[in-house]
Amino acid sequence: MQPLLELTDVSRHYVAGKTVVRALDDSSLTIWPGEFVAIMGQSGSGKSTLMNVIGCLDRPTAGRYRVEGVDVATLDGDALAALRRNTFGFVFQRYNLLATATAEENVEIPAIYAGMPREARLTRARALLTQLGLGDRAGHRPGELSGGQQQRVAIARALMNDPPVVLADEPTGALDSRAGREVIALLQELHAQGRTIILITHDEALAREAGRVVRISDGRIVDEASPAAPAVAPAAAYTAVGAPGVVPEILESTKMALRALRVNFFRTALTLLGIVIGVASVVTMLAIGSGSTRKVMEQISAMGTNLLIARPGAMGFRGGGDIVTMNVGDAEAIAALPNVDYVLPERSSRYTARYGNADYMTTVTGAWPSMAVMRDWPLSMGSFFTERDLTGYAPVVVLGSTVVKQLFPNGEDPIGRFVLLRNVPFEIIGVLASKGASMFGSDQDDVVFIPLTTGLIRLFGGTHVHSITVKIDDLSQIAATERAMNTVLRDRHRIEDFSVRNMASMIEMASSTQKTLTLLLGAVALISLVVGGIGVMNIMLVSVTERMREIGVRVATGARMRDILLQFNTEAAVVGMIGGIIGVAFGLGIALLLGQFGVDVAFSPWPPLGAFTSALVTGLVFGFLPARKAARLDPVVALAGE
Ligand code: ADP
Ligand code: MG
Repeated sequence: MQPLLELTDVSRHYVAGKTVVRALDDSSLTIWPGEFVAIMGQSGSGKSTLMNVIGCLDRPTAGRYRVEGVDVATLDGDALAALRRNTFGFVFQRYNLLATATAEENVEIPAIYAGMPREARLTRARALLTQLGLGDRAGHRPGELSGGQQQRVAIARALMNDPPVVLADEPTGALDSRAGREVIALLQELHAQGRTIILITHDEALAREAGRVVRISDGRIVDEASPAAPAVAPAAAYTAVGAPGVVPEILESTKMALRALRVNFFRTALTLLGIVIGVASVVTMLAIGSGSTRKVMEQISAMGTNLLIARPGAMGFRGGGDIVTMNVGDAEAIAALPNVDYVLPERSSRYTARYGNADYMTTVTGAWPSMAVMRDWPLSMGSFFTERDLTGYAPVVVLGSTVVKQLFPNGEDPIGRFVLLRNVPFEIIGVLASKGASMFGSDQDDVVFIPLTTGLIRLFGGTHVHSITVKIDDLSQIAATERAMNTVLRDRHRIEDFSVRNMASMIEMASSTQKTLTLLLGAVALISLVVGGIGVMNIMLVSVTERMREIGVRVATGARMRDILLQFNTEAAVVGMIGGIIGVAFGLGIALLLGQFGVDVAFSPWPPLGAFTSALVTGLVFGFLPARKAARLDPVVALAGE
């Protein structure tokens, strides 16, 4: 038969400054399956160190330790975790229960790391607690239980994965004598079921309960009465259990994370606040930024994206007003070009309009009938002048709403009445719908329109026009049309005394300005998100320090490094996620509210989605360092931690 546990010349030395502490020094020990061994020694003699080595929580500095013939030095972290999970059940002097979890949840932990399905886990945890006389305490937290009861919960936890070996480090040390005896009786019972029990104690009476007593002094095992192999091997059927799947583990981690966060509610709320403010400001800022972009774009495109404008005077040359070579003939030549929908030559001057004894100075524009279509300007009354009015030099006028208000303050119907422009009578045939102020602040309704022909003959004098606006059909061909216009005008004028501009270039400029603004707002908001993330990191680091013991217990019950990593990463992710959701809701709410007060806001799904994702990523990124710190903790140090 093969020994269950076999230590050969094992040492565990601690180097503290210049001195070397020989906590375990060159000791050998053989334990057979089914033994009940008591390890006795004074405080500081190295009992716990021995126990940690046996339980694979600590590696020996020298010597060889074999479990069922396998040298543990050859095992990697995951294999050691599996060994702890499947072979050993730990019972500690100070119970080491998670204060935030119920008795039942505490008992379940080893099975979570072993990947036992939830239902089976719950059933088994209940059954174990009932067996140990705590059936009615399953839902209680450790703080609501007596010391003896807590230690029984700890024993139930040790038995959860049905391990063949139970390691108990002074399990009665914190109990009164009666509760202590109960615990020893329990261990006897487990031994009777075929388990191997290793009990650390400094109580002679308790040690006598064991089948064999091993003494340790100053790190050396002194009087091991080396036993022979037992005659009969104990009958035991142990179920080897695997590792958990990823999805159930994430679910479990999330549950544990929510519990951990709830326990420190106020602190969690403050951490969340950082993320919430960050996310909310990203969402709000971007809504405002894109709202203002939309407004500006709307105003520009209302002027027409598919417009080309020819004006007298070369590009960048001042004094275009003095050049009188652009005329209606140019407009007609341009109208014949391909891809040209409408052409609008215009000439304007400031004149006084008079009706009865009301005088009002306004801008009079001579135009073609294409004006209403090109400017997309509906009428509120009457109609616009027609091609026939144009060719017939009709003395008709269409008034802007501001002019109507000035000339007809009593609200009379202006249609059919005559208004004097520079003492020439014009019949009012229409009133334009109100457009309000332009994006540059001028009153767009302070205008009147007359046929260009009539204007040139009766008012303006001369034949030149101030601008020729062209509406094109296919926007993708705008560059070709612009070139064609330039050619036509150059041919007709012989010199380059004109310039052609397009609206697209103006839009491009405005949109890049707007993008910069939005980017700037977004960047400021992002900074607050990063500040929030640093808050998460801070709180997680504190949390790792605070929960050293918990981490130690998890490792002792079989958690792998990556289980711990996942646990803490999940907590950070949960903070990020909750903060993200609340932040998005807040941000949208604030943006909506601002919208009510007249601020231009625009919503698109991307900023909230992006902000939420960044919150989550922030949580993960800033949570990673603390999580890694937790995962890398030495379990012995963690268990000793406060
Ligand atoms: P026991 O459990 O028998 O009371 P321990 O095994 O805990 O004793 O400790 C044995 C010796 O090792 C003690 O002298 C203790 O101070 C020392 N020791 C334990 N852990 C450490 C450590 N992490 N660093 C340095 N010395 C340690
Ligand atoms: Mg000890």
